[in-house]
Amino acid sequence: MALRELRKLRKLELPDTVPLSPILDLWDQQEPSGPDATGIYDFYRNLADGELTTTECKGCGKLLFPPVIICPYCNGNDMEWVRIPEEGELYAFTELKLGAPIIVENYAPFVIAIARFGNYPENGVQLSGMMFDVRYEDLKIGDKVKWDILEIVGPGDKARYWYYFKKV
Ligand SMILES: [Zn+2]
Repeated sequence: MALRELRKLRKLELPDTVPLSPILDLWDQQEPSGPDATGIYDFYRNLADGELTTTECKGCGKLLFPPVIICPYCNGNDMEWVRIPEEGELYAFTELKLGAPIIVENYAPFVIAIARFGNYPENGVQLSGMMFDVRYEDLKIGDKVKWDILEIVGPGDKARYWYYFKKV
């Protein structure tokens, strides 16, 4: 049984009337294998299984985000899927009060953050994401955060998953 079936995921409900940003619809465009495969299908499949993963280069050992098929450090193409360490550190954050993308304007104001996971930059990754259940005023750089999986509800009835951060 997939992790997402075992735990209750936070849901981000989007209106049916607005087309979704392509970044959240990429899974459908991925082929798991074959000539049209991009090689990052597993990123979306793992999100759906409740895991935030990325590629680690077997050649030089670098953890790379977003997931890639060619290592920008050693040009190697032997990649391994690894789970991103669950606990990270807040590197930067801001609060979006006005001008939120139309699909998430109902959630404003909300915090957008950059968080670092693992030993960045030697062997870690830096991600940006939304934060929930926390006020801007209650955050400071260096705070411990965790990633978790976000279930995106709508448009339509297609299942989509992404990630978000929460304060530890
Ligand atoms: Zn490499």
